[in-house]
Amino acid sequence: MAHHPDKTLFIDGRWRASGSGDLIDVFDSTNGEKLGHVSSATGDDVNDAVLAARRSFQAWADTPAEERALACERIATGMRDRADELADIITRETGMPRKLCLAVQVLVPADAFDRAANHARTFEYEQEIGNSIVVHEPVGVVAAITPWNYPLIQIAAKMAPALASGCTMILKPAQVAPLDSVVLAEIVDEAGLPDGVFNLITGTGRTAGEAMVDHPEVDMVSFTGSTSAGKLIASRAAGSIKRVSLELGGKSPNVILDDLGPEEFDKVVRDGVAKCYMNSGQTCTALTRMLVPRSMLEPAERIVTDEIESKYQPGEPFTKGVRLGPLASQDQVDTVTDYVNKGIAENARLVLGGPERPEGFDDGYYVKPTVFSEVSNDMTIAQEEIFGPVLSILPYDNEDEAVAIANGSPYGLAGAVWSSDQERAERVARRIRTGRIDINGGAFNPEAPFGGYKQSGYGRENGLFGFEEFLEVKSMQR
Ligand code: NAD
Repeated sequence: MAHHPDKTLFIDGRWRASGSGDLIDVFDSTNGEKLGHVSSATGDDVNDAVLAARRSFQAWADTPAEERALACERIATGMRDRADELADIITRETGMPRKLCLAVQVLVPADAFDRAANHARTFEYEQEIGNSIVVHEPVGVVAAITPWNYPLIQIAAKMAPALASGCTMILKPAQVAPLDSVVLAEIVDEAGLPDGVFNLITGTGRTAGEAMVDHPEVDMVSFTGSTSAGKLIASRAAGSIKRVSLELGGKSPNVILDDLGPEEFDKVVRDGVAKCYMNSGQTCTALTRMLVPRSMLEPAERIVTDEIESKYQPGEPFTKGVRLGPLASQDQVDTVTDYVNKGIAENARLVLGGPERPEGFDDGYYVKPTVFSEVSNDMTIAQEEIFGPVLSILPYDNEDEAVAIANGSPYGLAGAVWSSDQERAERVARRIRTGRIDINGGAFNPEAPFGGYKQSGYGRENGLFGFEEFLEVKSMQR
């Protein structure tokens, strides 16, 4: 059933407005105009949602895995049926080019529901260890709090395994991009899950998010977002010893070793631009630090410049062929611009771009694609997450130094290594302290565990590891 535009809270199987009547406006990244609005939930609304999830928990946990799997598959089908509508919304929310948005931001998360269904079916919920039966049970009521950059991917990474494993949940998407999750809640409504199993709370982090984290009837908080909010959430959740999983920021290194031939080097550097600029750099795993042998600094700058000038000029994301859309919000434009100014102030060499608004764009959240070279790893732009189309090129003198630079970060989310010698690439990859690392362009694997080392968080999403995150373990001795 479609919701009324002022009633975007989906609690206990019904659509309703916030108790305060307050609304949050959502803006269109392509022109800065109002795109829509959602209800801003109060603590009381959150309480209602948590209690609904608690009431429905035991029956859902006791539902056969096959039925939960079928429910997940109905959600996947519902997402595919409304894929174009979802892609249009997310393109306007995030700025990601529409064609890529459909493939990456809608169809990938739809698949995540099918994958979770398979895990629910095939998981071995019981095992024997000596005189014990070890039973895996759903953890309980899950509070899922998500960011705006890949809204449905981050939601599906939590929601699909939570529902498939028998948890009930409350989802709170980011206020910058909540409209896609309202459509998702309509799809869940249509899919006919029991009331209270899935609840949607739209609202702010400070009010709705914190009420979820503090609530005594929430068993687990699964959070994706900034490291600063993650720290706050982990410390609040400690008050009631909730299970917490955190998927936080990154500053991922792209280590290009010194043994590539000129053609390979050209290809790898161009690939590095793509993996930094995907979704205008608003990607937690973006390869924002490109490490090149010092002798290759000049060719790297030349190839990067050519790639960006020919393929990554800012453009309207619904226009065919555009690879670089706007950022998601004015806040994000301000943050990125501040970092570009900081890079200049710290004497990184500006190769391309700069802090000015790109020509030809009077409205919308556009920034110039920017590249700094001769960046040293202690500069702010090499240490902090920028979340925009800003690439830093860092020279190194030998392999050990490259590894030290790669690891010289408070983050440890992702990375890449390139070498013409596969064994050497793997050896270097093992020395890098990140939860994920791509060797010589290894493709994304949706069943591989995803998550961070160090201040990129703890816990793993996707695949079997992501499914087990939502299970408790009980040993019964006979
Ligand atoms: P954010 O931390 O500001 O917000 C994320 C979510 O948390 C939002 O729903 C927000 O309302 C909520 N929130 C904020 N403060 C809260 C609080 N005190 N209590 C409870 N909830 C609170 O992050 P963002 O700006 O929306 O997203 C960008 C960040 O997300 C980047 O740092 C990026 O790296 C990170 N990210 C990480 C991954 C990953 O998997 N590791 C994936 C995507 C994005």
